[in-house]
Amino acid sequence: MKDIFSIKGKVALVTGGSRGIGSMIAAGFLSSGAKVYISSRKADACDETAKKLSEEYGGECISIPADVSNVEGIEALADAIKAKEDKLDILINNAGIALPTSIDNDDFEVYWDKTHNVLLKGQAILIRECLPFIEKSNTPRIVNISSTEGLGASPMHSPYTSAKHGVIGLTRSLAVELGKKGITVNCICPGPINTAMTEKIPDKDKEIYSKRRVPLRRYGDPEEVAHATLNFCLPSSSFITGAVLAVDGGLTIKRA
Ligand code: NAP
Repeated sequence: MKDIFSIKGKVALVTGGSRGIGSMIAAGFLSSGAKVYISSRKADACDETAKKLSEEYGGECISIPADVSNVEGIEALADAIKAKEDKLDILINNAGIALPTSIDNDDFEVYWDKTHNVLLKGQAILIRECLPFIEKSNTPRIVNISSTEGLGASPMHSPYTSAKHGVIGLTRSLAVELGKKGITVNCICPGPINTAMTEKIPDKDKEIYSKRRVPLRRYGDPEEVAHATLNFCLPSSSFITGAVLAVDGGLTIKRA
């Protein structure tokens, strides 16, 4: 029963860990005693964040720059960790982009492929690559970051919304498939969160939207998503799988 409420000594990988939700998930894991690998495309930002997180939260945070929108990038990322570790306890599929587009945009296919490659295919292929390595853990945990766009829909977001719906399907399918191996696969659906992804939305618009749509009447912060993610990764979370948890201030349940 020792340490069932802690991830001390566990090895974790967080994609999109250079900023926003991913960097706070990494911070939460470091605070709880895990060794954390973070990854993102921009090497400088990834290295800098890893250094800063190690200093601020203690423990070892290691940067491995990689692009998870293509198989080569994913293989390189998995290989780099395999070269240093003999197992992976926690995989967090968080990397993401949001590229709004209408369906009649001439470049729609470009938007579709870019979005789906990172948000959905990237998650599935990274799980495939890491699976033999995750199986070596005695507390194997996978958490996929979806969105409230996976539970509903906004206009001009069909590539993003369809990919985020897909993340929920991927999570549920793999939870069923990998249950016999004791691997849990869960999903978080953040609502509107204050990160670079939403920083261009004017404060006034955020306020109007929050008051109208969010029972808690505000945008959330990355640490509020990180906390929910950490919960799914505890050794004692071993009977939760295929769960889809909204971290959205009540957005998805509000009717009027
Ligand atoms: P963010 O601040 O823009 O961070 C995105 C992270 O993903 C960065 O580290 C970015 O680094 C990385 N990334 C993007 N494309 C990548 C690629 N091809 N390969 C590797 N890394 C890549 O966004 P965030 O708000 O923290 O979003 C994190 C996750 O939460 C995403 O999946 C997003 O869809 C989801 N989400 C966010 C919100 C929100 O309101 N913020 C709401 C619902 C869901 P580089 O650019 O250097 O690669």
